[in-house]
Amino acid sequence: PLVLGIETSCDETGVGIVRGTELLANVIASSMDEHARYGGVVPEVAARAHLEAMNPTITAALAEAGVTLDDLDAIAVTSGPGLAGALMVGVGAAKALAVSRDLPLYAVNHLVGHVGADLLADDAPFEYPTIALLVSGGHTSLLLVRDLVSDVELLGETIDDAAGEAFDKVARLLGQPYPGGPHIDRLAATGDPTAIRFPRGLTQAKDREKHRYDFSFSGLKTAVARWVERATDAGEHVPLDDVAASFREAVADVLLTKALAACADYGVPRLLLGGGVVANARIRELAAERTSAAGVALRIPPLSLCTDNGAMIAALGAQLIMAGRSPSTLDFGADSTLPVTDIQVDER
Ligand code: ATP
Ligand code: MG
Ligand code: FE
Repeated sequence: PLVLGIETSCDETGVGIVRGTELLANVIASSMDEHARYGGVVPEVAARAHLEAMNPTITAALAEAGVTLDDLDAIAVTSGPGLAGALMVGVGAAKALAVSRDLPLYAVNHLVGHVGADLLADDAPFEYPTIALLVSGGHTSLLLVRDLVSDVELLGETIDDAAGEAFDKVARLLGQPYPGGPHIDRLAATGDPTAIRFPRGLTQAKDREKHRYDFSFSGLKTAVARWVERATDAGEHVPLDDVAASFREAVADVLLTKALAACADYGVPRLLLGGGVVANARIRELAAERTSAAGVALRIPPLSLCTDNGAMIAALGAQLIMAGRSPSTLDFGADSTLPVTDIQVDER
C-alpha cells in the first residue's frame, strides 16, 4: 500500500511516503534553530512551527515521491507519545486529509514507529524478536519487540532525563551551543574517557531488581556539574575534552550494558538502535564492540531514519494494513503519554 505518514511529536515536522517497505519520500522541516536560544524544545514554539510547515512539507513529500494525493491508499499519523500541542497539529492535518480524500487513517505509536524505521533500510529487514534501544532528546527506552504490529513490550525507560537531554545539559554546562550532542562528540574525540570516573546510574546491585532495564541520567549530569565547579573553584584548568569523553563514556556504557543485559536475559540475539543520539560516535563504537563480543547482531538504520521522521510512521501504517488491521476511527486525539503497548490507537 502507498501510505503517507505524518510525524509532529517533537520539533520535526516529518512527512514520509512509502509503498510497503519501500521508501519513496522522507521530508523533514525542523524548528530546532528556533529552540536554540532556549536550550531546549519549547512546546508552544514547536506547535506553531508545525502548523506553518505542514502544508509545504506534505507538498514536498508528494513531489519527492512523484505521486499525488489521489494515488494514496492511506494516511498514518503519530498519536503519541510526545508534546501534546505538537502532536495535535499532525493529528488535525491527518484527519483533514483523510476526511477530504476519503482515505483510511491509521493513528500510531511514535516509539513503535522508530522500530519500524528499520524496515525502510536498503538491506533485508531485521528479524523478530529483537531488543530495541531508542535514545533521543525526548526518550530513552528499551523495548522487547516480538512483532511490530501486535507485540511490543516496554522493558525499561529513563526515570528522569532522556539521554539526549543529558547531552544537551552537559554541553550547556561546558559552554557549548544547543543541540549539544554533536559538540560533546567533537570535544570528546581528543579527550581521555578514563580521566574521570563518572557515575553509571541505576547499575548498582540494589537496582538490579526494580530498575534492571531503567536509566537515570540526572545524577550523572549533576556529577559533571560538581566536577567542573570544584575544578573552577580550585583555579584548575577544566579539560573540556576529558570531561566530555568521560561523560560520553558513562552514557555509552550504561546504555549498552542494559541493552545487552536484556538481550541475554530474554535470549534475543538481536539489538536495534534508534533515535537521534545514535549519531554519537562512541555509542556506535561500543555497540559494535559489545554486540560482537556477545554474539548479538546489531542494526543501526541510516541516521535520517533514526531521528524523528514521517517515513517511519508511514512504514508502521503500511505494516498495520498488510496485517489486515482496520483503520482508526476519527475519535482519537493526541496522547502525550501513550504507552508503547498501544501500537495503533482507536482501531475501528
Ligand atoms: P524525540 O525525543 O521525540 O525522538 P528529539 O527531537 O528530542 O525527538 P532527535 O531529533 O531524535 O530527538 O535527537 C536529538 C537529540 O540527539 C538531541 O538531544 C541531540 O543533542 C542528540 N544528539 C545529536 N547528535 C548527537 C551526538 N553525536 N551525540 C549525542 N547526542 C546527539
Ligand atoms: Mg529532534
Ligand atoms: Fe522520536
